[in-house]
Amino acid sequence: MNYRAAQIAEITGSKVIGDASVTVKNISFDSRNLFAVQDRAFIAINTSQNSGEKYISDVLERGIRIIIAEHKACDKEGITWILVENSVLFLQKLAKYHLKSFPDLKTVGITGSNGKTIVKEWLYQCIYNIFDTVKSPKSFNSQTGLPLSILQTGKKHEVGIFEAGISRPGEMAVLAAIFSPEIGVLTHIGTAHSANFSTESELIDEKLKFFKDSSVIIFNGDHPGIYDAVSLRYPDRKLVSYGLGPHNKLFVQSGWDNFSNEITVSYFDNVFKFNLSQKDEATLQNVLALIAVLKELQVSNEEIVQKLVGLKAIEMRLESVHGVRGNLVVNDSFNLDVDSLKIAFQFIKEYKKVKKVLILTDIIDVKEPPDQLYKEVAQLVNEQDFDRVYLVGSVITQYHALFQAKSYIYKDSADLIESQTLNHIEDSLILLKGARKFAIEKIKNLLELQKHDTVLEVNLNALLHNINIHKALLKPKTRMMAMVKAYSYGLGGYEIAEFLQHHHIDYLGVAYADEGMDLRKNGITTPIIVMNPEQHSYNAIIEYNLEPEIYSFRVLELFWNALNELGVDKQYPIHIKLETGMHRLGFKSEELMLLAEKLNTMNLKVASIFSHLSTSDMSDERDYALSQIEVFSCNTDVLINALGYRPVLHILNSAGITSFTEYQFDMVRIGIGMVGISNDPAVKKQLQNAVVFKTVISQISHVKAGDSIGYSRRHIAGTDTRIATIPVGYADGIPRMIGNGKGFVSINGKLCPIVGNICMDMLMVDIGTLQVQEGSEVVIFNSKPTLEQFAEYCQTIPYEVLTSISRRVKRIYIKN
Ligand SMILES: *Cc1c(COP(=O)(O)O)cnc(C)c1O
Repeated sequence: MNYRAAQIAEITGSKVIGDASVTVKNISFDSRNLFAVQDRAFIAINTSQNSGEKYISDVLERGIRIIIAEHKACDKEGITWILVENSVLFLQKLAKYHLKSFPDLKTVGITGSNGKTIVKEWLYQCIYNIFDTVKSPKSFNSQTGLPLSILQTGKKHEVGIFEAGISRPGEMAVLAAIFSPEIGVLTHIGTAHSANFSTESELIDEKLKFFKDSSVIIFNGDHPGIYDAVSLRYPDRKLVSYGLGPHNKLFVQSGWDNFSNEITVSYFDNVFKFNLSQKDEATLQNVLALIAVLKELQVSNEEIVQKLVGLKAIEMRLESVHGVRGNLVVNDSFNLDVDSLKIAFQFIKEYKKVKKVLILTDIIDVKEPPDQLYKEVAQLVNEQDFDRVYLVGSVITQYHALFQAKSYIYKDSADLIESQTLNHIEDSLILLKGARKFAIEKIKNLLELQKHDTVLEVNLNALLHNINIHKALLKPKTRMMAMVKAYSYGLGGYEIAEFLQHHHIDYLGVAYADEGMDLRKNGITTPIIVMNPEQHSYNAIIEYNLEPEIYSFRVLELFWNALNELGVDKQYPIHIKLETGMHRLGFKSEELMLLAEKLNTMNLKVASIFSHLSTSDMSDERDYALSQIEVFSCNTDVLINALGYRPVLHILNSAGITSFTEYQFDMVRIGIGMVGISNDPAVKKQLQNAVVFKTVISQISHVKAGDSIGYSRRHIAGTDTRIATIPVGYADGIPRMIGNGKGFVSINGKLCPIVGNICMDMLMVDIGTLQVQEGSEVVIFNSKPTLEQFAEYCQTIPYEVLTSISRRVKRIYIKN
């Protein structure tokens, strides 16, 4: 927007005091996020719970010079006041006027109980590089959020995507008076926010008001009430119903209930397929809504398919964190209703922890009568195999008899904490589902391992996305081994393997037997190859059903002896490593005949034959890699002939997959590619960062020019400046060599130099005049600096950076 104060007053019928010629380009209502103050007005919004006017003196102090409010709150000089009768109505009037000045803007409006924000964000991800698009920020969808979103529209925009949310009767009529979209979307009507409506059909009716001027209405037609209501009310519009049922215009023909990622849909009888890595019903319904909108925007099927692969998951954030006493704590910080409970149950199914515990509070703000609600909840819970259920709240506890697992009841969170019973939970998966009012964080803090501000955050969805990007290059039959050696490249142990196992990875690769043992103890059943089977570990390998790499006659004989000593009489799977040019481990060409001869006398099964490329990521050493592949190809032929059967063959690592795709043989071994690293720029562009290393500022100090920083006074401040101390040091895996200006971390998106020597547990950075506070987030790497840049500071490669991050840094796994 770009209006003079005088214009705004005229449009909205309000009054200006002070300079009416000032320009307003932005309006903010949240005093906490005011970055640029130039041309920005602050609006004091009064609601029944809060008055925005109490923040006026604060924002004036921060340099805001234009205030929109119902009262002139002070006499400070040089301020322009736009005095309004009602701040919410003011915004609505202004937004309505503003939108009218863009008659060519194609508008998409999304409403519904769940899924509207995700559909909006996904839509944006899909079209932002096709159309100049403006969208509601976050979930700005309320009586003030929608107008503020609309006010962001400018001349250049071609498409506007706005969300509308309501919680009370009458609200939609107000929103629809400001804006009724050309393409309307109704995602899902659920139990969330329905407490103020007496019947579901009343809620549906209210939502449908949004579409009064829509030419197309896209809606979930699996819900019979919605299907009928839309058809009855808007028979003259283009109606696009979507869902699982074949009566819908867009429906899923096949694929959603089997193990493959491929989904086939029919859109007005036009059939096409796409891949989706996450296939719970909620995700699928949201994707269908998305497809329907993309079709209305004339995006081609090919483009849709391609965009869907790249979707970043946003929806809800289920965090899983290591807990005390070997527990794993899964905390769902989203809203609590029956639908979100279902999704959380689906999520924890992926974990193979034997014991599962549920902590569940009263479900509030839903319309269903408690008898019915908790019967449904108990039934759902009973279908899971929880060992114990902790019920918290005065309502849910009345229904404890409905829960079949051993259940414990508490009137509130404090009661549960005081009871000390949580201390008895061991080696379990603990699912925490609580309504906000129960201050569930207190329980979470108690269960989590000592909280560190420094974390390595691993995004499992990104990991899977990256695997899929590599998979897309391969033939469908080619198998994939994920290398999870060295604590999964530093990202974590069984959590990663478990996730990969759930997503049907064919093989896992570890360096040592202990790593494999750990995985088995945590319920991993996928075949595991041990690259470096040490002599002392053969018994463990056999006991835990791990598969050794056999790289020399010495290892072959010793392992064979171990099998015999233990009296194993099955054909034990082994993997033969061939030396093809790396000169590290492996059988050489001249040893093959003897090898085959020996193998033929032993009751062993060569499960695979493989080798490793030494230059797969170097474009100037392609010939060398090709010569290795050539040797591999010949030598495997020789061995296969002599053995009389064909084991699985594999030679490509991540870089090999992208650079030597045609030599994929039967299997490939992905490693660093999962993390989001590739030497191939085209592939790199499609990968997502799967890991972020971050911490927070411990202290900020003002120093004077000439003051020295840190051990040995290696840095002397050149000017007066501010120094932030950060709680990571060389003991956490930050190499000491990147001190003294060689390395940078980012704070508030700005790279700040590390100054002075890095200490064992801390380091200092020069933050100059950067607007940050103690406790502000600091990104050590990804995406600014990127992992690659950080590795450059350290004069090494991303592999070493990741595997050097100390075990004391807490790993957090996020999954959306
Ligand atoms: C570690 C490893 C890989 C994976 O290498 P990336 O470069 O990380 O893809 C593949 N094969 C073997 C034998 C390995 O040891």
